[in-house]
This record gives sequence, structure tokens and C-alpha cells, in this order.
Amino acid sequence: KYSLQISAIKIKNKTRGFMSAKRIYEIGEIPEIGDVPEEMYAWVIREDRLGVPEKAMQIEKMPVQKPGQDEVLVMVMAVGINYNNVWASQGIPISVIGKDTGYHIGGSDASGIVWAVGDNVKRWKVGDEVIIHCNRDDGDDEECNGGEPMYSKSQRIWGYETNDGSFAQFTTVQSRQLLKKPGHLSWEESGCYTLTLATAYRMLFGHPPHALKPGMNVLIWGASGGIGSMAVQICKAVGANAIGIISDDEKIPFVKNLGAVGVLNRKNYDCFGQLPDVSKQEEYRDFIKKCRALGKDIWEITGKKDVDIVFEHPGESTFPVSTYLVKTGGMVVICAGTSGYNLTMDARYIWMRQKRIQGSHFANLYQANQANDMMIHKLINPLMSECFNWSEIPSAHTKMMENKHLPGNMAALVQAKKTGMKTLNDLK
Ligand code: NAP
Repeated sequence: KYSLQISAIKIKNKTRGFMSAKRIYEIGEIPEIGDVPEEMYAWVIREDRLGVPEKAMQIEKMPVQKPGQDEVLVMVMAVGINYNNVWASQGIPISVIGKDTGYHIGGSDASGIVWAVGDNVKRWKVGDEVIIHCNRDDGDDEECNGGEPMYSKSQRIWGYETNDGSFAQFTTVQSRQLLKKPGHLSWEESGCYTLTLATAYRMLFGHPPHALKPGMNVLIWGASGGIGSMAVQICKAVGANAIGIISDDEKIPFVKNLGAVGVLNRKNYDCFGQLPDVSKQEEYRDFIKKCRALGKDIWEITGKKDVDIVFEHPGESTFPVSTYLVKTGGMVVICAGTSGYNLTMDARYIWMRQKRIQGSHFANLYQANQANDMMIHKLINPLMSECFNWSEIPSAHTKMMENKHLPGNMAALVQAKKTGMKTLNDLK
């Protein structure tokens, strides 16, 4: 009986859900450490208001989810803005609202403080300052144990394929989603980069033998954007040559400063869109000629070498030229289809030149941790472009949707009251 009482106290001290001084805290109001209120404020998307982020996302009071045995509750200090919630707000390509619950709280990036831990959690404790990566899996099948967790049937992206993301005062995540917060970064800098950095890391290192090596040439679409700017920095860090593509000359100095060996403006080329009908020879030849014009300018940068890897994500509009330009035996690695999903290519170049088309999706814990180590060792800059307030989270998404955002990664404050704070002590 005595030992049961002790474990009850332990659980109580760990979750303390019913010991809170208040039912709900205001945004930026910091409870006593470990004090878990019953409710929290969250930006919630519901089916009847899908559309632009300002319409789809509304603030609601939601219950704070108590952590399960292998989970932790994190008080969210700051969050990253990324494309997931642009798609979720619109319900494109599918609605991600919980079928049973009827709601979706987006947000797949965050920094915060561990506020409660489940009984099985040993690596993290209440008070730890952390960031959260967005891969969830059940840890149970053979892919999670000796295989590749990203291939597990249980794999889901937190805050997109699951409904309790970071755009809330608290979030409950698996303990294996936690990474150490880099001490030299503020809450908002720490909360803005993991999704983009870890995605770029897996794209460049996660598909051997086409893994990034010193001296390789890598063509990077959207080189000033979230994942592109991380890819450029990773290339620089390992001594590979990043050739960045942008659409506005004003972005050239930014991408060069990240370490790109060359930057080209896609507006100067006309080799985009779906592959023309190969049987319409004149039209087809014209298209290939336009692809070669881009290839020629890439050669100017690489010394007449074709690129080893193309870092793809625009999809439909760039895929034909990406697959044409990559070197014989090289890899086009793709993680998105921002401009459309109907990818086309000339199959002859794929088999004759033995090119690899590789899909890539976020990252496993090992890769997310390796990527974070690069940040901790200051090899990568989080490139926080802007930091918004809690109330501006929807409009920040609209800015991204309209491609009007500044280069780099956007962040927003949640419980951190102002920018520049780095620790729990700063919040008091
Ligand atoms: P972002 O910050 O908006 O950057 C994307 C960049 O792509 C833009 O800055 C733009 O740069 C460029 N771009 C846009 N339309 C283009 C087009 N038609 N042709 C060529 N370039 C174009 O977004 P992000 O955070 O980097 O994310 C990019 C995509 O990857 C999104 O669709 C996102 O959902 C996806 N993603 C997937 C994963 C995954 O795990 N599967 C993870 C992260 C992101 P310029 O206009 O300067 O060329």
C-alpha cells in the first residue's frame, strides 16, 4: 500500500494536472514549473472554416493533454512557421482535421520547457529546455528497430498528420521527439529551424550512396527558402558546392553569404512546366534547348561538371529540367511538389544515364539529432527571418502562402514574452 502511495505521488508530481493554481493561464503568463492547467489557448482549424489561414485558424480554449507513459508535456515558448499549416488551413491536398475530434492544431516546430513527463521517460525531466522534431512513430515495428523509422507504417508528422501540434501553450509529444535546445540561441531562433534543417539533412545524407561529400556539386531550388537555405549551409559545412536558384536578384547576396558558390535567377530561364509531348519534335527540341541554357550557366559555375544532386521541391514546374540536368548516375531528391504533383520527365535520360529519383520525407530521430548537432556546433545558422507575436501566427502563414516572406525561417512567440530570451530564468 505504501509503495502504491509513493508511485501515486510520483505521478502526481510528474504530471500535476490537478494541482494547477489556475484553470487556464494567459498567453505569456508562466505558471510555477510543473504546474499543468486544465486548459490552454490554441490556434484551431475546423472543417467549416477551411481557407486562408486567417479564416481557418481561430483561437480556442482546448484541454491540455496529459502525457502518456512515453510522452512529455512541453510548455511551448516559440514556434516555427512552415508550409504544413498553409496546406492544413486550406485542406489541400486533403483535410487533416481529426476525424473523431473535429479539430486540428497545427505547428510542427517548437522550442519549450518540459513541463511534465510520463512514467517511462528517463532521458528528459521537468525543466529541461528542448526543441521538438516532428517525426512520430510507435517505436514498435521492425522498421523502428533496426530498419528505417521513416518507413514504419506508424510514422506520422506531428502537427500535420497528428492534430495536437505546437500552435498552443502546451503540447504533448513522444519523448523521442525531443532534442537539446542550443544554448546560444533564443527561444524563437531555436523554435524555427528543425523541420527545414532535418528535412534538408536527410535529403542530402540519408540516401546513400548518393550522400553529400566534399567537392560535390548540388543544385538547390528555392535556395533562399526554408529548406533551401538549410541545404546551402549544409553544403558549405561539408565542403560541397551549392548552386542556388532564386527568383529575385535581391536574394543573391543572401544566398551567396550562406556559402553558395553560384546563384542563378530562374526568371532568366524558360525551361519550366511539364515536359512537352515528346512526339511534337519541334516543341520538344525547343524545350531541351532551354534546359541546356540553364545547364550552360551551371557549367560556368562548376567548371563544366554536371551536378551530382538536385535538391527538388517545387515539383511539377522544375522536375523535367532537374531530371535532365543531373549528372549520369546522379540523384534528384524530392520532398515536395509546391508547384504541382504531376511530375513529368523523359524516361530515356533516366535509364540511359542511370539517374536516381529519390523521394525523401522529413527525418528520423538519428538524422534530426545529427542535424541539430550541426546547429549546436554553430555550423548552421537558424536564419530566423522574422519573429511574429502569437496573434500574428495566421497572417505569417498567409505571407508564406503568397511567397512574400523574407529569406530563411519565420518564428512566432508563444509563452516567451519577448524576443531574445534564452532560458527559463529569462522568462521569470
Ligand atoms: P519556402 O520557404 O516557401 O521556400 C520555397 C522556395 O521555393 C521559395 O522561396 C521559392 O523561391 C521557391 N519556389 C516557389 N515556387 C517555385 C517554382 N514554381 N519553381 C521554382 N522554385 C519555386 O518553403 P520551404 O519551407 O522551403 O518548403 C518548400 C516545400 O517543401 C513546401 O512545399 C513544403 O511543404 C515542403 N516540405 C516538405 C517536407 C517533407 O518532409 N516532405 C519538409 C519541409 C518542407 P524563389 O521564388 O526564390 O525561387
